[in-house]
Amino acid sequence: MDVIHTVAELRRRLAAERRVGFVPTMGNLHTGHLDLTRIAARHAACTVVSIFVNRLQFGPSEDFDRYPRTLGDDCVQCEAAGVSIVFAPDESEMYPAPQSCTVDPGPIQHILDGVARPGHFRGVATVVLKLFGMVQPQVAVFGRKDYQQCKVIEGLVTQFSLPIELVFAPTSRADDGLALSSRNGYLSVTERAEAPWLNAELRRMVDAIRAGQREYSQLEAASVAALVARGWQPDYITVRRQSDLEPATAADRSLVLLAAARLGSTRLIDNVELSL
Ligand code: AMP
Repeated sequence: MDVIHTVAELRRRLAAERRVGFVPTMGNLHTGHLDLTRIAARHAACTVVSIFVNRLQFGPSEDFDRYPRTLGDDCVQCEAAGVSIVFAPDESEMYPAPQSCTVDPGPIQHILDGVARPGHFRGVATVVLKLFGMVQPQVAVFGRKDYQQCKVIEGLVTQFSLPIELVFAPTSRADDGLALSSRNGYLSVTERAEAPWLNAELRRMVDAIRAGQREYSQLEAASVAALVARGWQPDYITVRRQSDLEPATAADRSLVLLAAARLGSTRLIDNVELSL
């Protein structure tokens, strides 16, 4: 496995590769990330994992400075998982000049996570477009855990006619249902025991909808109250349609239930798809 830090070296290394599968990450890798690399390997002989903590997608009061940076351990995990190349540029390689040219992902950037994290999806879409230009993959794999991000990337690829096949992988979870996340490392022992409740609450909503409940705003209000009563600070827990993540109506059949909530100082997100 090659660990590469510059675009020039990456281009040289990739020149002879005919089919590249790409997994962009911010590092501090866990089984969820490695599952994405294994999916990429099914689509391409050469797999590239990028590791870059992207300042552009963090708000001023977010955890950019304390975000875990574990490149050595990440490389060990990638090598064991059969990754071909780790691309780990530093900030001056990614942003040699202030990034004045950015990607505007449209209305979807302003809903759900975009409310609590203004500018987040512009930062994500911009760095992903830059990474696509650097790696020039045939296939790129993203995790459905970040469902809204998948929609933003889908819009990016479709609307800019990028010749990249997208694969959206299922969410990898701990045995108790908690979605794996680099941010889970921030949780105290008590918070870690509580954390699966977010997924459990989404599943309770799914059960209610399967049982015929169509008053989605009532369902959402009850779930917000249940989370608050257990000490969470929810940003949203909501029933949306899969197509554009706008609020679902009783007529919609392809739904996704999404939640974001703070437990102590840690913000967790999760979602569950539901087809009626
Ligand atoms: P991150 O390093 O958090 O930016 O995530 C890099 C990629 O891994 C993104 O496509 C995420 O959606 C994906 N990812 C993170 N956690 C999970 C998970 N638990 N299951 C599946 N994909 C994940």
